[in-house]
Amino acid sequence: MKYIGAHVSASGGVEYAPVNAHEIGANAFALFTKNQRQWVSKPLTAESIDLFQQNCEKYGFLPEYILPHDSYLINLGHPEEEGLTKSRAAFLDEMQRCEQLGLKLLNFHPGSHLNKIDTEACLSRIAESINIALDKTKGVTAVIENTAGQGSNLGNEFWHLRYIIDKVEDKSRVGVCLDTCHTFTAGYNFLQDYDQVFNAFEQEVGFSFLRGIHLNDSKKEVGSRVDRHDSIGQGYIGNAFFERLMKDTRFDNLPIILETPDETLWAKEIAWLRAISQG
Ligand SMILES: [Zn+2]
Ligand SMILES: [Zn+2]
Repeated sequence: MKYIGAHVSASGGVEYAPVNAHEIGANAFALFTKNQRQWVSKPLTAESIDLFQQNCEKYGFLPEYILPHDSYLINLGHPEEEGLTKSRAAFLDEMQRCEQLGLKLLNFHPGSHLNKIDTEACLSRIAESINIALDKTKGVTAVIENTAGQGSNLGNEFWHLRYIIDKVEDKSRVGVCLDTCHTFTAGYNFLQDYDQVFNAFEQEVGFSFLRGIHLNDSKKEVGSRVDRHDSIGQGYIGNAFFERLMKDTRFDNLPIILETPDETLWAKEIAWLRAISQG
């Protein structure tokens, strides 16, 4: 079965996210558990946690299909001590928020070398950052998202993901999220050869580590290394690919999350994707 939703607003409190997801016909969703553009946020209140869990139960959202995203400020591979320390503290706070909410996954972009250290050194730092956070938390899996490879962002090549996973001590609590826009603009042309791209993913990372999908079309061409999401069917990827993915059982039982730019289309996009997956 396909679990489909969107990255919904949690403005007013995390407890509103499941309500917003329910309103667009989702059976999965993503959210920020704090303001994604600030380093520090107030702790979650007991009331907010309680209401979040009540609303998830009321609308039938299971923790397996909820994919929180961390703050954009965090760089777990930061080349400098100060930035790295700050990022690790903020990431631990994000993991602990997930723990408090009873969530099982935390999605994040791996990190950037900022042209100050080499790729392997940065990937090793990211793995170490994950180890530190996993050591201090329980039950939450660190879900590394592949990226478009814009600027000095790592995670655009499948081997980057594997390299990090190999250095994570607790393999049961590390996974990956594939973003279709990022995969495409990073240079994996699944329009030309769908099987080749996902066979490469299986070989280099493994579907056993796949914990989520970000389903986005792309405003930029394959290999452009630019991260600009588009609404489903409106960009360079196009409907045929999404139809194929929705029928591919390797993507069953995972949160499939839209991060498409036009929120007013989410309900329609979800309904269309669900109909295909069932058809
Ligand atoms: Zn994404
Ligand atoms: Zn993106």
